[in-house]
Amino acid sequence: MEIVRTVAALRARVRAWQAEGLNVALVPTMGALHHGHLSLVRLGLTCADRAVATIFVNPTQFGAGEDLSAYPRDEASDAQMLRDAGCHLLFAPPLAEVYPPGFATRVIVDGLTDCLCGAARPGHFDGVAQVVTKLLNQAGADFAVFGEKDWQQLAIIRRLTRDLDIATRILGAPILREADGLAMSSRNRYLSDAERAVAGHLSRVLREVAAQLSADAPIAESVTAAERTLLDLGFQTVDYVEARAAETLAPWKGSGAPAGRVFAAAWLGRARLIDNFPIPQTPGSG
Ligand code: AMP
Repeated sequence: MEIVRTVAALRARVRAWQAEGLNVALVPTMGALHHGHLSLVRLGLTCADRAVATIFVNPTQFGAGEDLSAYPRDEASDAQMLRDAGCHLLFAPPLAEVYPPGFATRVIVDGLTDCLCGAARPGHFDGVAQVVTKLLNQAGADFAVFGEKDWQQLAIIRRLTRDLDIATRILGAPILREADGLAMSSRNRYLSDAERAVAGHLSRVLREVAAQLSADAPIAESVTAAERTLLDLGFQTVDYVEARAAETLAPWKGSGAPAGRVFAAAWLGRARLIDNFPIPQTPGSG
């Protein structure tokens, strides 16, 4: 697996493959890789002949006081994991390659970015939209793979590629979980042993809410009860538990409405954990 650090080298490699008639899948990451990231590479390789991973800890998506400087970085180990997963190229640019002096353009996706994590992390999705737009344009890949773990991010990226006529096809990858249900995340390494023991409850509680809502339990009462349960279990703060329409992220209106998902974000020590589950659709629902 070759490692390139400039946009010119990335583009040249991808174009050369495409000129040979090969399809290319892009897998953007911030590094500190785990099996969830590698599942994205594998999914990309089911559609494409070549996989290109990117590692870039994007400063514009971190708010003041967030964990930008503490974010785990280990390129050598990440590169080995990518190699073992069959990845063909790694793009790991320095900061100035992505944001050279004078850089001034922002990408704002209205509506989808204000709720859920966007409410708790103002500006976060503007930074995500900015860097993902750049990476998609830089690579010119046929496919790009993003995880359903960051469902709101995936919805925003689908929207911006449609709105900005970016030809790369966006693929969503299922959430990879630990044995107790905890969604794999680079930030899980912030958890102490005691916090790790609590963390698995997030997915269990969310799955239970999804099942209750599927059986027509009242929405407001169910999500409020779930927030209380998470606090009782030891989460310090619950940013939100909410039921929203899967595609538009508008508040979910109940069975009969378009497909819904339950979403949550909660803090354990230094780690802000997020997760989401589909609300199972009962026969005859929309
Ligand atoms: P990150 O490095 O955290 O920015 O994540 C890079 C990509 O991996 C994003 O598209 C994430 O949604 C995806 N991802 C992270 N964790 C998981 C997981 N547990 N399962 C599936 N995809 C994931």
